[in-house]
Amino acid sequence: MAHAHPPLDPVKTERAWVEVNPSALRANLATVTAAVGPDVKIIPMVKADGYGLGVADVVDALDSDQVYAWGVATVAEGSELRQLGVSKPVMVFSPVWVGALPRALADNLTVTVSSLEVLAELRRLADATETRASFQVEVDTGIGRAGFPDAEVTSWREALGSRGPNLKWSGCFTHLHSADEVGGAGVAEQERRFEETLRSLGPLPDDCLTHYCNSAGALRLHRTGMDAVRPGIFLYGGSVGPDLPSPHPVVRVSGRIVHLRKARAGDSLGYGATHRATKTECWATVALGYGDGLPRCLGNRGHGIVAGTTVPILGRISMDMTTVDVTQVSGVRTGDPVTFVGGDQGAVVPLDEVARLAGTISYEILTGLGARLPRVWLTDETEVGRQVHEIQR
Ligand SMILES: *Cc1c(COP(=O)(O)O)cnc(C)c1O
Repeated sequence: MAHAHPPLDPVKTERAWVEVNPSALRANLATVTAAVGPDVKIIPMVKADGYGLGVADVVDALDSDQVYAWGVATVAEGSELRQLGVSKPVMVFSPVWVGALPRALADNLTVTVSSLEVLAELRRLADATETRASFQVEVDTGIGRAGFPDAEVTSWREALGSRGPNLKWSGCFTHLHSADEVGGAGVAEQERRFEETLRSLGPLPDDCLTHYCNSAGALRLHRTGMDAVRPGIFLYGGSVGPDLPSPHPVVRVSGRIVHLRKARAGDSLGYGATHRATKTECWATVALGYGDGLPRCLGNRGHGIVAGTTVPILGRISMDMTTVDVTQVSGVRTGDPVTFVGGDQGAVVPLDEVARLAGTISYEILTGLGARLPRVWLTDETEVGRQVHEIQR
């Protein structure tokens, strides 16, 4: 899985870049579909620019008969998919500000309704424009941040029942807060509360989908009896639980060595001079920093990979540069790539390990990858491996 460096466009890869492997993305989707079975609809979550990888290419890579709809967080993200020519249902999952509803209607997005205020405004707009507006209802079974409270179902089910002819109720869902915890009791409790709410709502419209599983839920509770699942992070290579299948790595983040320096004992490095050479050392400065999304807290803690050898990050990471210790690696030259997330020639710095060291989660690492890093989508891995040395040096 740790593939060699591909022949990269020298302009795009002048300093640093993110490689994305579409076959790994598809393989992770296949793992989810196999777990939930053929009758459960798949709604890949592609919010936050496809978890930072570039939504247009993510949709391109994943689109297939198995994908029923796409999930986003905002109306603007939904509209972007329509502009890309996406014709499948596009579901907006965060609560929508009423000011954004006209755009949602115009672009035929399925919005989430978590309050009577939004339901009433959606109805007013749908009636005024004589448009059929599609919406889903979120039920809050413990996440707290959004959704109609399950305990108050009697106070909101009336309004849904009398929603009028222009509102199409197309889904009812809840969101798990602890599906990634092994043996967590939270999931069973939320399932119970969701099922109770569904019972209390009575029969739903024929094509109204019920769903509640994110990646971890889909893999943990396979064949749930619900209509759909909403996988996200697992598709992009983030692990969702130590007891669950591992995803194929999807991304590799690398930068080029732009400066080599022989340091003598006592020489200081970086802001705050937090590293001092204790002997003769060889320092390699890589053209990638926290301005590209490499967490600054990995200074003096994290690692990079140079030609298959894992090397420590020295000193503080700065906005545009990071220095690694290549004293133990022979033949290092400027222009050589250093990998900070992903694998290279047998050595790996896993995405989840980077996140753990930085005190965060893989989601934040991926969505924090800077706009300055070109996303380089791999095409054919065999070809990639063959040409490696031609480009690197
Ligand atoms: C982001 C999101 C998901 C996907 O969660 P992962 O943990 O990334 O699989 C599912 N459902 C909703 C409502 C979300 O916002």
